[in-house]
Amino acid sequence: MADATLDQTTDTTFQQTLRGRLIRAGDSDYDAARALYNGMIDKRPKLIARCADVADVITAVNYAREQRLLLAIRGGGHNGPGLGSCNDGLVIDLSMLKSVRVDPSNRTVRVEAGCTSGDVDHATHAFGLAVPFGIVSTTGVAGLTLGGGTGYLTRKYGLTIDNLLEADVVLADGRFVTASETQNADLFWALKGGGGNFGVVTSFLFQAHPVSTVYAGPIFWEATHAKAVMSAFREFLRQSPEELGTFVGLKSVPSMDPFPKDYWGRRACAVISSYNGPAAEGEKAMSRLLNAVPPPIFNWMGAMPFPVIQALFDPFFPKGLQWYWKGDFVKTLTDEAIDTHIAQAAKAPSELCLMHLYPIDGAVNRVGKDATPWSVRDATFSMVIAGIDPSPDKANALKDWGRAYWKAVHPFNLAGGYVNFMMDDEATGRVQASYGENYARLAAIKGKYDPKNLFRVNQNIEPAPE
Ligand SMILES: Cc1cc2nc3c(=O)[nH]c(=O)nc-3n(C[C@H](O)[C@H](O)[C@H](O)COP(=O)(O)OP(=O)(O)OC[C@H]3O[C@@H](n4cnc5c(N)ncnc54)[C@H](O)[C@@H]3O)c2cc1C
Repeated sequence: MADATLDQTTDTTFQQTLRGRLIRAGDSDYDAARALYNGMIDKRPKLIARCADVADVITAVNYAREQRLLLAIRGGGHNGPGLGSCNDGLVIDLSMLKSVRVDPSNRTVRVEAGCTSGDVDHATHAFGLAVPFGIVSTTGVAGLTLGGGTGYLTRKYGLTIDNLLEADVVLADGRFVTASETQNADLFWALKGGGGNFGVVTSFLFQAHPVSTVYAGPIFWEATHAKAVMSAFREFLRQSPEELGTFVGLKSVPSMDPFPKDYWGRRACAVISSYNGPAAEGEKAMSRLLNAVPPPIFNWMGAMPFPVIQALFDPFFPKGLQWYWKGDFVKTLTDEAIDTHIAQAAKAPSELCLMHLYPIDGAVNRVGKDATPWSVRDATFSMVIAGIDPSPDKANALKDWGRAYWKAVHPFNLAGGYVNFMMDDEATGRVQASYGENYARLAAIKGKYDPKNLFRVNQNIEPAPE
């Protein structure tokens, strides 16, 4: 009892030093504050520090270290295994840090760590600019960037990390530093794919690119044409201009308007694309695929502002669905692998379950394997399998399906996967395999900046002794 009182007094002192709020179990908004995007994950932190500024982040890091509290960092809260939260420890919640400042003369954008990609797309679009982020606009910029970041602009402009110019970071010892090519260059390198292992990033500086109206949208085929579409997609990709961001997937036709009722809930093959340029050029680029495969169920590509395609999936994936993720990198998509994908996807226990293959080519392949921790620069695709359903009763079925699907296709793939597409029940060595030869360098930098592994609620890199 005496300990609990002492605890409360210490926590109260902590609260008094924050500009933001300290939320605890029992507070009326505790359940809302701890809820994560993935409804499958239910974590109960002791404290949630909703930071209002960098000073709050420094205070919170120092508090966690001094009180020996498990510490989690929450950007957008989208992480599959819920690594933006923890049980019994302290969550540094960055959701109030929302400032975005575009510098149109240098085409750069300074983004605070609580922004979603939609926040940034909104701000940059007014200037005819965009940064490569992911394909769902509610995803946090922080976690997405620190893991790598793939999206529609990736073929032309690279991963999100390839567009990172600078980051402000609160380190494990409470120091505030800037990381760039010229300041703390080792830390800067590690942030470009090494996840939340090295400190709390409070803001990012990105290179943006000219992007405004795009020719974009989904095309769906019946599942019976999946083999033809996936096979043709490989060659189509090789011939397509890099202005075309595109991916192929196996999913279902959503059971809702405006989708054709006859197809509601039926398994399908989809290609979803965004061409950064005039519609006529985009149509021409897509015609190479359309001419090579049977007619689709529907083709809803058209001209639209870039933020519209970025948010296209948002209504299908509201916060709180059950998600089970598996990822891999693919070197060669063979005919046998395509057959295996089609057979496994057909067993999906829910309409929302999907498999996507995101191209890893163009600008991504032009960056050296050791230029960033993201070492798999010579892959051709980043694959994600996601078991998704609104009902918690389906959780086990989603896990079973995801695991069986992954087990069947993994022999065709590379050893590691994209750290942002993994759960936390992966086999030992998976994180290491994902970084390949860069792992030892990451571990050494971790040893320098976070020797006691304060930042360990993540796809963890164990600190090497200094
Ligand atoms: C619907 C959906 C669509 C997605 N689409 C894509 C996609 O198209 N492309 C893609 O690349 N990824 C995609 N992802 C994966 C996404 O990149 C990861 O889920 C990522 O972890 C989300 O970041 P977040 O900030 O929202 O997550 P959070 O859960 O808040 O954080 C995830 C982890 O990042 C670290 N972290 C977060 N903020 C900070 C910070 N400021 N400083 C230090 N560490 C921090 C922490 O270690 C934390 O454990 C998608 C995810 C979802 C759910």
